[in-house]
Order: sequence, then structure tokens, then C-alpha cells
Amino acid sequence: MIPSNFEYFVPKSVQEALMLLDQHREDAKILAGGHSLLPQMKLRLAAPRYVIDIGRIKDLAYIKEENGKISIGALTTHWTLESSALLRQKCPLLSETAAAIGDVQVRNRGTIGGSLVHNDPAADWPAAMMALDAELKLFGKGGERIIKAGDFLLDMLSTALQPTELLVEIRLSAQPPHTGSTYMKMHQKASGFAIVGVAARVTIDSSQVCQDVSIGITGVGSRAYRAKSVEAELKGKKLDSAVIRQASKKASEGVEALADLHASSEYRSHLACVYTRRALETARSRAK
Ligand code: FAD
Repeated sequence: MIPSNFEYFVPKSVQEALMLLDQHREDAKILAGGHSLLPQMKLRLAAPRYVIDIGRIKDLAYIKEENGKISIGALTTHWTLESSALLRQKCPLLSETAAAIGDVQVRNRGTIGGSLVHNDPAADWPAAMMALDAELKLFGKGGERIIKAGDFLLDMLSTALQPTELLVEIRLSAQPPHTGSTYMKMHQKASGFAIVGVAARVTIDSSQVCQDVSIGITGVGSRAYRAKSVEAELKGKKLDSAVIRQASKKASEGVEALADLHASSEYRSHLACVYTRRALETARSRAK
């Protein structure tokens, strides 16, 4: 399939990209790794008149840590995140999530920023962003704004990004002590996308009592969500397997589960509970 005609720009700086966005607004699309946008254009689901390729703006690809805060440039590829020694040490949930995405070709080109802006309901990053309560930095003509991932990821393929804005950075806290985390997913065999994916982070004290827990779930509903009922049931309790099993039953509470040819809504809801239990068990064992 051949996309419709478009004009192609390669800005060399964030400022230049913002200027082009402001000029062409709804008629323009940012191109990062191209692994979601190009298939959409080839299928004519997207037909931008102007394509702004940010791939050469090197300032947008980085991973930094300062005072327990991790900053990731929007153009950082899944593979760079998967293979970062800093992240393996400071925030292993990110390395594990990155490694679960698609295959090595997809991870080599696809970017964390592109994935978050595309906001596929079966994408992996949104689960980790919800569990880590990440903040996203957006640049627009009017300056910078910071928004929580939960407020940014609005619904299926829709976010709070304005047509004149660029996602530039993702910020989150490094993993605290006595904490374990994991990302587990049941993947769709052809693409690797999540039928259900669960990111969990658990902090326990020396008596195994849960001091903090956060769970982000993707693939089940039309957008990723925090499993708040499960979290509420676990906080302050000694995390034995019976407690985890009982709480995990609430993993899809209040969520309208999607149905497609890969899984019925009942099956997705069931998988959400099973994968939440497994992820919590693993996170707890890693916290010890
Ligand atoms: P692009 O395709 O370039 O852009 C996607 C959208 O985001 C576009 O609308 C674009 O305009 C916008 N955009 C990009 N960057 C910015 C920015 N900085 N600011 C503002 N707007 C921006 N994903 C998973 O999570 N799990 C999987 O298992 C998985 N499997 C895949 C398998 C295949 C075969 C393919 C092709 C893709 C798969 N993906 C999967 C998706 C992959 O992770 C994509 O790379 C990702 O969703 C989009 O990132 P990108 O950099 O390619 O973005």
C-alpha cells in the first residue's frame, strides 16, 4: 500500500520542529520511529499533508538520572531502554517492559515517545507509565507543560497532546529500597502486542508488610489503568500468597474489557486477574 502524497521536513532542533507544527497544525504529523505512523499512512488511516521527521534531533534521545529522578528523552528507542545499565540498576521495570515489546527490529526503531503519543490500548509502555506514576514534559508554542501519564493517556489512540505540541521527555522516580517490580504480559503471537500486560511495583518492610504498591494494566480496556482496588486491598497487609490471590481478583473491577478475535472480554478480564497475581508474586519475591 502506498501512502497519499505528503511534504517531508527534517528539522534539526526542537524549536524548528515546533515552528513547523505551529505552521501546519492538524495537517502535520510528527514522525519518530515510524512503526505506528507509517503503517497507518500506508493503510490510509492517516493522510498527513506534512510529515515532520524528528529522528535527527539528537537532543531528544537520552536517559539521565539526577537525585533519584530519571529523565528519558521522547526519541529514546525501546532497545536503548532495554539495554541501559543505568535503568537495570535504578528502574528495572523499564528495562523489563522495553524487552517485552514486539521484536528486535521494532525495538530498534520504535521510541517511547511515539508509543505514548500513539496510545494503542495494547501497547506495553502505558502500563509501566501508570504503575510508575510518570510525568510527561510537553513543549508547545506557549512554552512547557508537565502532565501525569494518567491524564495524558486519555483513551484508545487519543491523548491530551495538542496538535502544536511535542512530547519531549518522560520523568519518573528511581526504584526505592525494599522494592521489587516486574512487567508480565500475555502477548498476541503475530505482533507481540499485549492481550493483557501488568506492571507491578511493591515495597515491603522486614515483616513482609506492604508499604506501597502500584499496578498498571494494559490490553484489557480501551486505555491503560491503575488497578486501584487491588492496591487498596494490599496496602498495610502482610503480603502472603492468599492475600495477593484474593486482591488480584479485583484487577479488572470497573473496567469494560475489550473483545476481539484474539480474546473475548471475559477471557481478558480473567487474564488481568491471573497476570496481576503472578506479577505481584514476582515483585514481592524481588523486594525481599
Ligand atoms: P511513530 O510511528 O513515528 O509515531 C506514532 C505517533 O506518535 C504518530 O502519531 C506521531 O505523530 C506521534 N509522535 C511520535 N513521537 C512524538 C513526539 N515526540 N511528540 C509528539 N508526537 C509524536 N508496541 C508495543 O507496545 N508492544 C508491542 O508488542 C509492539 N509490537 C509491534 C509489532 C510490530 C510489527 C510493529 C510495527 C509495531 C509494534 N509496536 C508494539 C509498536 C511500536 O512500539 C511503535 O514503535 C510505537 O508504538 C510507536 O513509536 P514510533 O517511534 O515508531 O512512533
